[in-house]
Amino acid sequence: MADEAHRPALVRTMEEVRARSEAWRCAGLRVGLVPTMGALHAGHVSLVRRARAECDRTVVSIFVNPLQFGPGEDFGRYPRRLDADMEVLREESVDAAYAPGVEAMYPAGATTRARVAELDEVLEGECRPGHFEGVATVVLKLFNSVRPDRAYFGQKDAQQARLVTRLARDLDTGIEVVVCPTVREPDGLALSSRNVYLGQDERRAALCLVRALTAANDGWMAGQRDTAALRAAMLDVLLAEALARVDYAEIVDEETFRPPGRLAVLAARIGATRLIDNHLLGRPLGQPA
Ligand code: AMP
Repeated sequence: MADEAHRPALVRTMEEVRARSEAWRCAGLRVGLVPTMGALHAGHVSLVRRARAECDRTVVSIFVNPLQFGPGEDFGRYPRRLDADMEVLREESVDAAYAPGVEAMYPAGATTRARVAELDEVLEGECRPGHFEGVATVVLKLFNSVRPDRAYFGQKDAQQARLVTRLARDLDTGIEVVVCPTVREPDGLALSSRNVYLGQDERRAALCLVRALTAANDGWMAGQRDTAALRAAMLDVLLAEALARVDYAEIVDEETFRPPGRLAVLAARIGATRLIDNHLLGRPLGQPA
């Protein structure tokens, strides 16, 4: 168990996180940033461990970003558990948790937004208007506050990871974006803070996402390269699940997120809970090593 000395600093202001990070960088230490919305699970922890392995100091941001939630989405009821999260970060020997308030992040009159064109027009961008503008804006603000050497994102949110990689490059941030593999439950369900919303029947129904990805992957492994056929295999599985409502299921290019390609991406609502998942076809679908 980590001792008191490893308790992460809980930082509430941009000025303080910037000062701490700058002091580390001036001392020649490499700084890693893991942006999260909290309710930390093993998927987040995998990012934290990668950051700890590759950097000298690790900052985890915890901020439920109102800008990336649409009207009628789950901003109000999104799980917030700072105390439990701080305990996780202590166990992982994280150096600082940056948890600013909404007013500090978006003071009145702060109307500037960041946008990654084209990539934000398809799939998640199409289903959730304004979502990626909210993501790009908060990530750029976090990058500017912490000024990390590296920032860690999960492949679970593949389109977000691509968008952030492009943002970092296009705006000359000099920050290296590292994308880490999706962590799954033993039965294949991708870990997500939103899984806590699922009732017992919904939890079982949610497995249709990974089953659909498996169907596409099996097709690919058997030599199928026709995007329409691979997509149909996914839809067959999803439509057979009575509790699921499909937003999209596509086989897309990993850069543009438009078909054709090799990345199977899907989004479905299980009851009131919207889940997303993806898989790069041709790779084994399972727990990453
Ligand atoms: P969130 O708190 O949901 O905004 O996620 C914060 C970061 O953790 C994002 O980069 C996500 O892609 C990543 N993440 C969420 N779930 C997983 C997972 N199951 N495996 C790997 N990374 C994840």
